Amino acid sequence: MQRIAIYPGSFDPVTNGHIDIVKRGLNLFDKIIVTILHNPAKKSFFTVEERLEMLENSLKKFPNIEIDVYNGLLVDYGVKRKAHAILRGLRALSDFEYEFELALMNTRLNSQIQTVFLMTGLQWIFTSSSIIKEAARFGGNISGMVPHFVNQKLKEKFDSISDSI
Ligand code: ADP
Repeated sequence: MQRIAIYPGSFDPVTNGHIDIVKRGLNLFDKIIVTILHNPAKKSFFTVEERLEMLENSLKKFPNIEIDVYNGLLVDYGVKRKAHAILRGLRALSDFEYEFELALMNTRLNSQIQTVFLMTGLQWIFTSSSIIKEAARFGGNISGMVPHFVNQKLKEKFDSISDSI
């Protein structure tokens, strides 16, 4: 039996913190489906296509990874993909309450799919997509926090925004 996990998120954009979770998750699962949860009500900086491209580029060196997009209830997606677990990463205290609520809600909706948390790698504790966007917006050096390809995409995106103002 293949142990399959879904790693859902916004990945707006993917960071080295996310990649670290995927890498370590592969020690626990036979396959990880990294899924962009596309919520039309939630405003994202990058389009779904851009986020997909960045994930594909950043994760191409890993085996047993699939990248997908889903718009709907996560546990329904889990059933559809025959997943055993939902993989999530936990940083400092700030993540805990939200992740705890989400995990309890998902367990209530479907008790067959377990949420598995991996603690952040110490060096990624302050790495988040939103803080990276804030730094990149003002030209801050974010190399080492995101893959090179993502760094380039952030620069291009902010350049195209400033050109259009
Ligand atoms: P969401 O919008 O669902 O929070 P994110 O893309 O921000 O999506 O994050 C997806 C998952 O990855 C979440 O469980 C989040 O806590 C985790 N994560 C994000 N950044 C890190 C990091 N630096 N270290 C560990 N886990 C992380």
